[in-house]
This record gives sequence, structure tokens and C-alpha cells, in this order.
Amino acid sequence: MSLQKTINGLIRDVPDYPQPGVLFKDITPLLHDAVAFQAVVSAIAAEAGPVDKVAGLEARGFLLAAPVALELGAGLVPVRKSGKLPWETYAETYDLEYGTATIEVHRDAFAPGDRVLIVDDVLATGGTAEAAASLVRQAGAEVAGLSVLMELTFLNGRDRFTDLRIHSLVAV
Ligand code: AMP
Repeated sequence: MSLQKTINGLIRDVPDYPQPGVLFKDITPLLHDAVAFQAVVSAIAAEAGPVDKVAGLEARGFLLAAPVALELGAGLVPVRKSGKLPWETYAETYDLEYGTATIEVHRDAFAPGDRVLIVDDVLATGGTAEAAASLVRQAGAEVAGLSVLMELTFLNGRDRFTDLRIHSLVAV
């Protein structure tokens, strides 16, 4: 079976979660499957090119970014929601459908010129990934690419980025 079919078969659609009208893509069945989990991590790492750091977006991005970083021999940087990181941070606020959200990264997370792969589970509107890319640049590093397990193409998140390598293992 192709990796795309395996992934599609192991991501569970949960209607109306966390709110009515949202079709939530639940990646936990994929994480439960040792062979599929390893294949996904290897596929993300294989597309990455040379990177110094892998930045995982809270929370499900952490679950993929950590093993990808190990496979690449790169460092891991958690990008967290506001107020969760204990040290000095850079912060970026972006628009949600209702209201705004803020994400942060430690000021000492990157060395100048570090090449950074941003990893998350789902690319939806792209707002989170765009804010994460701004954070990486604000911290003096370079965004080498964005990798996600699944891209929701109908939300056109990809269109926000003109100069970024975006890799999704499956697009729906
Ligand atoms: P966005 O900023 O709209 O691209 O949303 C991306 C973030 O929200 C990612 O961190 C995803 O984990 C989460 N997300 C957005 N939409 C979904 C969805 N339909 N299913 C699962 N996670 C989602």
C-alpha cells in the first residue's frame, strides 16, 4: 500500500470537534501504529534537505518534530502557545476565525543563520505556520521548509507563502 493510502486510512475524521462545522483530523490512530509512524517520520526527514533545527508547533507538531529531528541529527525547537515557555521569548500574534492567537519561541532557540524545518500535523488556513515562519526569521534564522502530515487544500493555506518549500505527505 502507498504511504498516502496508509496515512489516509489512519487519520480519523471527527465531525464537529472542537466546535460545530469543523472536521477534525485526528492523527492518534497513525501514532498508535509503529510501522506507519516510523514511515511518516522517515518520509518527512527524507524531504527535508540539510537543516540545523526542526521547529515543532504545539501540540501535535511536537509529536512529529521530535523524531524527525533525531532522524536528521538536528536540534528540536518547541514553538508554543503564549505563556508556556519559561525563558525570554519572541512572540507573534495572528488572526483566527474568531479572535487572535499568539505563539512564542525562546530567544536563544536558534543560532544566527540556522536552517529551520517547521513541522506540524495539519496545514489548514496557514496562519499558524505563517506566524511560526515569522518567529524563526525574527530570531535570526532561516526557514528551510514547512512539512506537514496533511494539507487541507480547500483552505488554501499554501497561498500565504510565496518563497517557502511546503511539503505535505497527503493533501485532501
Ligand atoms: P491553521 O493555522 O489554520 O493552518 O491551523 C493549523 C493548526 O490548527 C495546526 O496546528 C493544526 O494542528 C490545527 N488544525 C487546524 N485545522 C485542523 C483540523 N481540521 N484538524 C486537525 N487539526 C487542525
